[in-house]
Amino acid sequence: MSNCAIVGINWGDEGKGRMVDLVTQDYDVVIRYQGGSNAGHTVINEYGKFGLHLLPSGIFRKGVVNILGNGVALDCEALWEEMSGVMAAGVSITPDNLKISERTPLLLPYHRDLDSLEEARLKDKKYGSTKRGIAPFYSDKYQKKVILAGELFHPEHLKAHLADILEWKNLTVEKVYGAQPYKLEDMLAWLDEFGGKIKPFICNTVTFLRDAQAAGKKFLFEAQLGALRDLDFGIIPYTTSSNAIAAYAPVGAGCPGIKLDEVIGVVKAYSTCVGEGPFTCEWFGEEADKLREAGGEYGVSTGRPRRVGPIDIVATRYGVQMQGATNIALTKLDILSYMDKIPVCARYELHGEMTDEFPFPVDLNDAKPVIEYLDGWKEDIAGVRRWEDLPKAAQDYVLYVEKAIGCHIGYVSVGPERDAIILR
Ligand code: GDP
Repeated sequence: MSNCAIVGINWGDEGKGRMVDLVTQDYDVVIRYQGGSNAGHTVINEYGKFGLHLLPSGIFRKGVVNILGNGVALDCEALWEEMSGVMAAGVSITPDNLKISERTPLLLPYHRDLDSLEEARLKDKKYGSTKRGIAPFYSDKYQKKVILAGELFHPEHLKAHLADILEWKNLTVEKVYGAQPYKLEDMLAWLDEFGGKIKPFICNTVTFLRDAQAAGKKFLFEAQLGALRDLDFGIIPYTTSSNAIAAYAPVGAGCPGIKLDEVIGVVKAYSTCVGEGPFTCEWFGEEADKLREAGGEYGVSTGRPRRVGPIDIVATRYGVQMQGATNIALTKLDILSYMDKIPVCARYELHGEMTDEFPFPVDLNDAKPVIEYLDGWKEDIAGVRRWEDLPKAAQDYVLYVEKAIGCHIGYVSVGPERDAIILR
């Protein structure tokens, strides 16, 4: 397949980073098309274990060109910190294997601060922001009050533009939140320091992608978070502030005319969710602690304990549809090995009726999970590499999920390592 997107089907943290790392060997260019440093992928390979936030996961593969597209929220400081960590592990990052679109807007320090100020104002009604400035950043982008990465090459223009933006931004900072205004010289100094670090990587990626496409290169589009966090189709307002769905990939990547040949949707064998918002299948107490421990479910970017529960068929089927998934990677099946029987949230009960449809966000608060149980397999499957070697009960679980969500499961992951995968 020449062009493929790898996307999350649920709330995020499905194991996308691990899947991108696996399949990048078949692609020439890996492109991040949305989001910022607010979520993370964990990738384990010969260089070590990495929590990637902004860098595309193809950065570890020799010969792969990695791109940060115009749809990304680019925090130069966070990116530089991440690049430094990856380079310290022996990975080469040069303008040949990392390219940042000159059209990518920059997330500035005041975006992060505004996130905290707004969450403090919301108090117990907070959205559960990761406080990386993502919502204030995207609001500014849509108001056209942002600095594009390419403006770093035009210092006089940059200074005047930033002065105009700050005059406007400080109205909100001072009058709405009663905080200290931002000074132009501080922001310019920050841009000089961290913008300066990433400047060598900034270029016209639109023409690069056009030429690469003409040369028959294969593109892999990498998303952050999942369908249920999508700004348009997710659990509003507990979503992220950009479009995580595959349909946005060509736009946010910088090649809007391209068609996706394949969409690999990543689904975890059970459910996890970070932050606030309705999470219908949520477990509490001992049952939840056991699953959280077994799966190591703590946020990559924030370290927050994740909320956990059984797989949610209603939400997953909806995610598959919104993503237009053509193939599914089911991850962390090995984590369920300790269970005597495997719980599945098969449908919801909503206002006294059964439903298979994912409800409107307001109704989601009233939805109750209807749980069914499948047989457990109670044996370690982490070493299994062939479908026929999986215990029958594990096969049955995969087949049940495949039928229920209406999409072929082509990959079953049984461990975090690159080779811990069963292809079907
Ligand atoms: P992402 O943001 O979607 O990439 O997901 P995260 O990186 O937040 O979470 C996935 C976590 O599960 C990482 O720690 C992975 O190394 C790990 N992981 C991925 N697939 C598997 C698997 O099949 N089995 C096990 N045990 N761990 C996995």
